[in-house]
Amino acid sequence: MNAYDFDLFVIGGGSGGVRASRIAAGYGAKVAVAEEYRLGGTCVIRGCVPKKLLMYASQFGMALEDSKGFGWQVPEASHEWQSLARAKDSEVGRLEQVYEGLLGSAGVKVIKGKATIAGTHEVCVNGVTFTADHILIATGATPEVPQIPGAELMVTSNEVLALERPPERIAIVGGGYIACEFAGIFKGLGSSVWMVHRGSRLLRGFDEQVREHIGNELAANEIQMRLGTTVAAVERKRNAYQLYLGSGEILDVDLVMAATGRRPNTDGLGLERVGVHVDARGAIPVDSYSRTSCNHVYAVGDVTDRLNLTPVAIHEGHAFADTVFGNRPRRTDHEGVPFAVFSQPQVAAVGLTEEEACARHGAVRVYSSAFRPMRAALSGRKERVLVKLIADAATDRILGAHIVAADAAEIIQGIAIALKAGATKTDFDATIGVHPSVAEEFVTLKNARYSTRLQS
Ligand code: NDP
Repeated sequence: MNAYDFDLFVIGGGSGGVRASRIAAGYGAKVAVAEEYRLGGTCVIRGCVPKKLLMYASQFGMALEDSKGFGWQVPEASHEWQSLARAKDSEVGRLEQVYEGLLGSAGVKVIKGKATIAGTHEVCVNGVTFTADHILIATGATPEVPQIPGAELMVTSNEVLALERPPERIAIVGGGYIACEFAGIFKGLGSSVWMVHRGSRLLRGFDEQVREHIGNELAANEIQMRLGTTVAAVERKRNAYQLYLGSGEILDVDLVMAATGRRPNTDGLGLERVGVHVDARGAIPVDSYSRTSCNHVYAVGDVTDRLNLTPVAIHEGHAFADTVFGNRPRRTDHEGVPFAVFSQPQVAAVGLTEEEACARHGAVRVYSSAFRPMRAALSGRKERVLVKLIADAATDRILGAHIVAADAAEIIQGIAIALKAGATKTDFDATIGVHPSVAEEFVTLKNARYSTRLQS
């Protein structure tokens, strides 16, 4: 007889936790998952899914404007936020039910409440203690707000997904994924948008040429950029807010959103009771099998702060279950993972930036092309696409691919397969393009420049 109530107790019912639970249960393990909020986690409930639905909604505004260049007579259109919010909430609710159904049919016990580790093999939820042979931490991360006067007046991505009405004027603090994505969403839905970022370019860590290009694109889309400036304070002014910038400027807006990074959710979990180490940011370091510093405790997803993307968390959860319950040791390969920022236009990439490629490989050949997409010829929109490939000068292998374009996320997935398969520039050149398309540029890039710049 099993000495424990469960073979596996999962804390957190998001992407990683749910996948790990289902797969472990499929191997015959007795599994429980505790979730304090709603099943589905950040991605389904207050991240990728609702964000992408809002992004689609916002794109129609631009499409209506652009359509005039193609002969459409468009009467003045208006947008009804409430019906969008209802439709989005209902889709999120449907997906939550799907998650619940998947766990139910896999035989996983779902326990609603905040779980804490109470002892070596003990987890406590709502005052009830359960024992488990293995524990998996999959608690994700939470938005972090800069500690400035008036910080409590700022909203985060959690709250902007549940607004009752869109702001007429919004200032978004930060220059990362979430800031770029919501700038496009609110602009498309009719708000005046300011992006306030402490750096001189958006999207730190991305290829420098890409960073410059997307900054120019967002500015061309009438997002008002305030770069190289900090936010000193926020003050309420009647029904609006004043944002005091380090530059001395004061912005009058109706909403201030902090999109300044996310912190792993490890506070109050009781990790110290089992000797699970956390780093200075609160993330749980793990080995390549997602094992923590405590032998029977594992962690997957954003709480480990490796590569904070939903498909990565899902893969880590699946690999954990295969390893521990399926007798099939499996690791997640964090190299060559494609990613996309759903800004407008989108930014997508796989592999190395030019700067990383030079630092790791010495000399590289860089191919890039910036051009006006065909659609913009008639719409009149000031829009430029960037397509970029980086090849190893010694082996011809493609080390990185980058694109800034309307459907960049859809394009990069196929390119990522080519890179995973070790494609060379010669392979790209031997591939015939789909014409006319933006994506064909990847197989027609000529005129390399050599780059040996060292990473600054
Ligand atoms: P990011 O780490 O992408 O960006 C945070 C931004 O906030 C940076 O520009 C950073 O500036 C700035 N910042 C941090 N602290 C401060 C501060 N105290 N004052 C002013 N600015 C500050 O975080 P996000 O919150 O946008 O997203 C979190 C993560 O979630 C992403 O990194 C990504 O992994 C994931 N995500 C993925 C998405 C996708 O796949 N499409 C969508 C959304 C999120 P600096 O660069 O100078 O540090």
